[in-house]
Amino acid sequence: MKLIDPIVEFHSELQRIRRDIHAHPELCFEENRTADVVAEKLTEWGIPIVRGMGVTGVVGIIQNGNSKRAIGLRADMDALPMQEINTFEHKSRHAGKMHACGHDGHTAMLLGAAHYLSKHRNFDGTVYVIFQPAEEGGGGARKMMDDGLFEKFPMEAVFGMHNWPGAPVGTFGVTAGPMMASSNEFHVTVKGQGSHAAQPHKSADPIMIAVQIAQAWQTIISRNRNPLDAAVLSITQIHAGSATNVIADEAELVGTVRTFSMGVLDMIEKRMRAIAEHTAAAFDAEVDFRFKRNYPPLINHENETRFAVDVLRSIVDSDKVNDHVEPTMGAEDFAFMLQEKAGCYVFIGNGEGTHRMAGHGLGPCNLHNPSYDFNDELLPLGATYWVRLAESFLANK
Ligand SMILES: [Zn+2]
Ligand SMILES: [Zn+2]
Repeated sequence: MKLIDPIVEFHSELQRIRRDIHAHPELCFEENRTADVVAEKLTEWGIPIVRGMGVTGVVGIIQNGNSKRAIGLRADMDALPMQEINTFEHKSRHAGKMHACGHDGHTAMLLGAAHYLSKHRNFDGTVYVIFQPAEEGGGGARKMMDDGLFEKFPMEAVFGMHNWPGAPVGTFGVTAGPMMASSNEFHVTVKGQGSHAAQPHKSADPIMIAVQIAQAWQTIISRNRNPLDAAVLSITQIHAGSATNVIADEAELVGTVRTFSMGVLDMIEKRMRAIAEHTAAAFDAEVDFRFKRNYPPLINHENETRFAVDVLRSIVDSDKVNDHVEPTMGAEDFAFMLQEKAGCYVFIGNGEGTHRMAGHGLGPCNLHNPSYDFNDELLPLGATYWVRLAESFLANK
């Protein structure tokens, strides 16, 4: 591994920052203390900042030379509403909140890069370091864009990175094209007619109708979708009724849809609505159909992905960078940025969990698991990637 020496020497400070953020997790759009830490550090290192974009977002501006060229590097700062079961020293101080997705580490890695870039400035142009709020469901990336991120800070391309548990430390995964799925939720209420359960002929039984809709929806995946397009339609809740001898008035179907393209998503939503409405109509009932699009699919751009892979292969051995990593049906709001800007998002291996200190919980070191912890060994590696990416992108010509 060709790590940058001054960043390696800064490792203990980055680890201290990472663990401090881990101990003080904050949820979507409440990242006030975390943003304070980021702002203080950037200011201490002489980096001008703009605060308050997307409520708690922070952007640092690192400039050198005369070039108008610019690149954006993005990290997320928020934690999850879950209880940590680790008991090591830097465990969460806030009940019911936890950095179980490693955004504490993402923030620290980008700070490490900002520190080095501000001291060495071996590039011509501007590096924007973007610390965004609310990745976990709040769409903080979208909110920063709505607040003018790309207008106030014009950049040619934007890059993101997420730790990936299970992949060895020192490895990276990336692929051009779709890498993570669109995330969408539906809440569909069948409005029938309740009755005494012994007098079903006086009802329009919403449970029978909901069951027919649930089954017919699966034909969207098996009959309407091109088998070469990945898609998930999962019904995760069915609610109806309250007694053994009462036919309910309503039944509710709730769940999620995931796709790698907007076209497939459009088709699924349209077919779900048609099946729900027409099935209900066939049984003299109605539906309230609500479909919410949360995050779009994350689609890496071809050229920027090739560029990122080349940079990664200048840091670790070529075979440590899987440039055709299997996409995941998980979602990520960096997808919004890649809809408007060229760029690329990579996974950095977080290891199998053996890095965790004594006192970690019984569970695996997986994302969103209560015994997860970010691997501090990654701090200099991730920061080195950010620096080399920016320096190569803005290389003196
Ligand atoms: Zn997460
Ligand atoms: Zn995450």
